[in-house]
Amino acid sequence: MYSQSIDKLIAELKKLPSVGQHTAERYVFHWLARGKRDVADFVLSLKGVMDNVKSCEQCWNFTDTSPCQICADPKRDQTLLCVVADSQSVVALQKSGFNGVYHVLRGVLDATDPEGFSKIKIKQLFDRTVKDSDLLEIILALNPDLSGETTMMYLEKELHTKNPKIKISRLARGLPSGSDLQYADDITLESALKNRR
Ligand SMILES: [Zn+2]
Repeated sequence: MYSQSIDKLIAELKKLPSVGQHTAERYVFHWLARGKRDVADFVLSLKGVMDNVKSCEQCWNFTDTSPCQICADPKRDQTLLCVVADSQSVVALQKSGFNGVYHVLRGVLDATDPEGFSKIKIKQLFDRTVKDSDLLEIILALNPDLSGETTMMYLEKELHTKNPKIKISRLARGLPSGSDLQYADDITLESALKNRR
C-alpha cells in the first residue's frame, strides 16, 4: 500500500497491544514528519531496554540490576511477600506504600492453555517458600478477574501444602471485580492491603 519499508514498519507496530492499522500509520507518519533525530532517540531507547533490562533473580521483576533495587533494600520487610502478575502491579503497590518484597509471576494461569503453568514463574515462587524460608506471610495480589481468581485459588492450596507455617492472604474486596490492579488508585490499593484477609 505504502512503500515497502513503511508497510514493514506498520506491520511490526500492529503486533503491539491495542495498535491497529490507523494507529500504526499515525505513528509512522509522525516519525517521518519529525525527522531522523526523533527516530534515532526512539531506536536508542528501545536498544537500551533490549541491552540492559533483565530479570531480577529473586522476584522476576524486569530490572537493570539483579537483584533489583527493591530486593536489595535492607529496609524492606523480607518476611512479607506480595505475589503479583506483572511489573505494572509492582509500581501500583509501591505507590500505595507497601514495604514488603514481591514475586512477579509474569502472567496468570490460563485454563485454555495446558502449557500455561510452565510459562509463568510459579515454580520459582514455590522455590522461595521452601520450609527454611523466613517468610511469615504471602499476599496474593492478582487481578480479581476469572484467570486471576483461578490462579489465586491454585496458589493458596499449593502454598499451604508446601509450607503450612506461612500465612496466605488476599487483598480485601474493594477492588472492583474484573478490574486491573495497575489502574487502581493509591488509596483503594492501600485500604485493600490494610484490610487483607
Ligand atoms: Zn527483585
